[in-house]
Amino acid sequence: MSEPTESRTGACLCGKIKYQLQGKAAKPLHNTVCHCLSCQRITGSALLAASIVSKEGFSITQGEDALKSHADTKSDSGQPLTRKFCSECGSRLFAFTPLNENIVMIAAGTLDDFEDWRPSKEQYCVHRLGFVDKMKGVESQDRHVTNMRSEAE
Ligand SMILES: [Zn+2]
Ligand SMILES: [Zn+2]
Repeated sequence: MSEPTESRTGACLCGKIKYQLQGKAAKPLHNTVCHCLSCQRITGSALLAASIVSKEGFSITQGEDALKSHADTKSDSGQPLTRKFCSECGSRLFAFTPLNENIVMIAAGTLDDFEDWRPSKEQYCVHRLGFVDKMKGVESQDRHVTNMRSEAE
């Protein structure tokens, strides 16, 4: 299914930080739309679109020193979610969870091919804003019930 030579790229708004998804990482484990309160706060918007990809094949190709981290301790699990953003332009790019060291969450709007992006599920729909309709043909979860450990194996 996933072409071993497939390569995708992404960048922050100012272009200082660039990354690459190759091989295993090029094909997301899933694409999710998150309605949780942290994602609303950090995006300043209704939701966050994210691709969950394997860390294998993920690399920051430029500007890693410009990345800043925020430990988000408001996660359901109580485990801090490390959210990374560009210190220059403020674009949020990645998130890492200690619950699964094998995956990285990519803020999908930073992907160069975002125009073709489609969610496979919606999570934390309990916090879906009134003006956002349920997405057609997309699995929806009240919270996030996936066992993170079982992913990316
Ligand atoms: Zn930037
Ligand atoms: Zn969220």
